[in-house]
Order: sequence, then structure tokens, then C-alpha cells
Amino acid sequence: MLPVAEAERIVLSHARSWGQESLPFLAAQGRVLAEDIRADRDLPPYDRVTMDGIAIRFADYEAGCRHFPVETTQAAGDPPVTSLSMNACIEIMTGAAIAGPADAVVPYEHLQLSAGVAQINEPVRKGQNIHRQGQDKRRGDHVIPVGKVIGPAEISMAASVGKSVLLVKKLPRTVILSSGDELVDVTAAPLPHQIRRSNSYTLQAALQRYGIEADLRHLPDAPDVILREIKDCLQSYDLMLLSGGVSMGKFDYIPQALRDAGVQIHFDKVRQRPGKPLQFGTFGNQGVVFALPGNPVSTFLCLQRYVLPWLEHSLGFPGTTALRARLETTVHFEPDLTYFMQVKTYQDEVAAQQWAIPLQGQGSGDFANLLDANAFLELPAGQNVFEAGDVFRLWYYGF
Ligand code: AMP
Ligand code: MG
Repeated sequence: MLPVAEAERIVLSHARSWGQESLPFLAAQGRVLAEDIRADRDLPPYDRVTMDGIAIRFADYEAGCRHFPVETTQAAGDPPVTSLSMNACIEIMTGAAIAGPADAVVPYEHLQLSAGVAQINEPVRKGQNIHRQGQDKRRGDHVIPVGKVIGPAEISMAASVGKSVLLVKKLPRTVILSSGDELVDVTAAPLPHQIRRSNSYTLQAALQRYGIEADLRHLPDAPDVILREIKDCLQSYDLMLLSGGVSMGKFDYIPQALRDAGVQIHFDKVRQRPGKPLQFGTFGNQGVVFALPGNPVSTFLCLQRYVLPWLEHSLGFPGTTALRARLETTVHFEPDLTYFMQVKTYQDEVAAQQWAIPLQGQGSGDFANLLDANAFLELPAGQNVFEAGDVFRLWYYGF
């Protein structure tokens, strides 16, 4: 049986890319930028006043003047005042373009204004409270590099350089196939021996965070229908996520159907709990299939541990450092499997350390426990006792 690290390596070695597309910048949130964004002007584009107050000629102050009659007023958005009498000032506002002879801004907090004369009460430096043109970026400089994931800060920068449409990486055309005759739709009233299918929505919701709108289909436990549907999906999708029907049961037809449809299976079991019967395959020259075990916790773990890392790797998300946490209480686990234990994390704020409290629940069918927990702690195979205080990898799924 394949160790977890090996399964991860195989999955990540099949990174894919799906081209590029242009989107209005707000619709590009969560997407990966496929172009370098450059400044179309200097940033800031003019010598910008950063405090409300008065603008003076520093030389006047240096020569001993402390009382400056207000000669004119300049609001943000007004064209810059370019002439100023000796020992006079411009009353000026944050965001205004300062030009000409004025070369220092004294904030209201440092003034006394009465009868149209400003008296300066604090020391003044030349150039103070002026954000110089091009001080942050020069026209043509990179302001957002290719590969950045678009969030509010990137959208802010795109707006300020006038990029209302962004070139981003395209997403895979994705289908989620649930399977099992016991499963009914979420809107149906289940019979006593039936349950509502939830995995499809788990997967759909997780992918939606990346902007993927996956189609949903449901497969009965009937081999001919399964084969036909899988073959059909191979024609029109880049990514197929299946849930259920991959174990040792008499009606688990998915593995055979995948092979019969021409999917190349790279592994069909991983030395882990939950999620042992995970299968990974490829088709055509770009297609990828994950067949996930149907137990909701198994599906969820395989999603967090393999599917999403593969997706992020394919899209070129900047590799973040793996999360780690300290186990809060000693845990014994006998089987020689990597154990993904459900945990709830908390932060020791003084030590800036993350701790993980075991919430073991009732095993891989215990979906309710996923809501109390917020992560899986990866306890490696080949070890039976995991000591309190030891550090392990953490797969966090809280929002
Ligand atoms: P299977 O992998 O088909 O043997 O299913 C394992 C368990 O997971 C069974 O109890 C199924 O009822 C359950 N299951 C499978 N698919 C889903 C699904 N889409 N939503 C909720 N539970 C599921
Ligand atoms: Mg089933």
C-alpha cells in the first residue's frame, strides 16, 4: 500500500494548466494572475499633500517667519497653485497636488489660525508632509507580479493603475459524480433506509472558493450506467471527482468502470485512515480523476489532503509553508497507517504556538464531528504513540 508522502508526490507530479482568460477585476478575486501589472503613471502621480494644513515656502520659515497670511485655498482635486507671495501660505488639503514655490506642509495641529493668519508653533522640516511623485513606484514598474492570488489588496492596486480587466489562469472544467443507490437528493424526503447525498455539495462548495463552478451528476450502483456516464464525462471535463463506490463492496463498480473507460490509475489505495481506498488517475493528455471513498469524513480528508493541494499546485498558488501544530494530549494509534486525526486548534498567543486538541469522533462516518473540529492532524505511519507536545502537520479547513 502506498505511503501518504508517495501518494502526494504522484498527485503533485500531475499538475495541469488550463490556459488563461480575461475577467473584470472584481470577478477575478481568488484567481491567479497570469500577467504582470505595471504602473501606468508614477505612484503617487504628483507631489501629494498628506496632511490638512498650510503649505509654505521653507526658506521663509528658515529666515525666521512664523506668521503666514493665507493667500489662497487649495482643495484636493484643484489644479496646483503655482505662485505664492513671500511669507504667505496656501491653506491646503490632504490629497492636493503641491507645486511651485511651496515645499513644506504644516498640519493644522501645529498651527494657530486667526483672522486669516496662520501662526506656526512647531518646528518645520523642508519637504515635510509631502509624498513625492514616484516615491512608491515609477511609471512602468511592476506593481503586481504574475502568479499573485487576487485579493482585496491586489484589486485596490489594479484599480489605482486603471486595470479593470485582468488576465488570470483558467480553471478546470469540473464534474462531481456521487454514487450509491441509498442516496437521494437534498430536496427529497429520504425513506428510512436512505440518506441525502452531501459529499457532492462538500466538494462543490470547496471548489467554489477557487471560482470553480462544478457540475453535479449522480450515478446509480449499476455498472453499465456508471461506465456510460464516466465515458461521457471524459469527453467534456478536465477534472472528475467521484465519491463513493471505490471500496471492496459487491456494488463498488467505480474502479473497474474507470479502467474500462481508459483512465490510467496511478494508485488505488493509500496507507492512511480515513480514506484508504482513494484512487488517482489520468486520462487523455490533460484529464485528472480523483475517486474518493464515500464516507463523508474520508471524502473531506482526501479533498483537503490531495485534491486542493493538487489544484493549488496546478494553478501556481505561491507555495505556502506547511502548517504545523502541537498535540495537546498523548494519542495511541495501533494500525500501521498514517492517521489523520480530527482536531480542534487553538493558538497560545504568548508563545505564538498552535495546539491541536484531539476530537476523535466515531470514525470516518462521523460527519457531525467535522463541524466541532477544524483540522486534521497528520500522525505518521510507523509509530504508535504520539506524545503530548510533539509537532505534526496540520490540515486546517476552518474558514
Ligand atoms: P461507499 O464508498 O460507496 O461504500 O460509501 C461509503 C459510505 O459513505 C456509505 O455509508 C455511503 O452511504 C456514504 N456515502 C457515499 N456517498 C455519499 C454522499 N455523496 N453523501 C453522503 N454519504 C455518502
Ligand atoms: Mg456506495
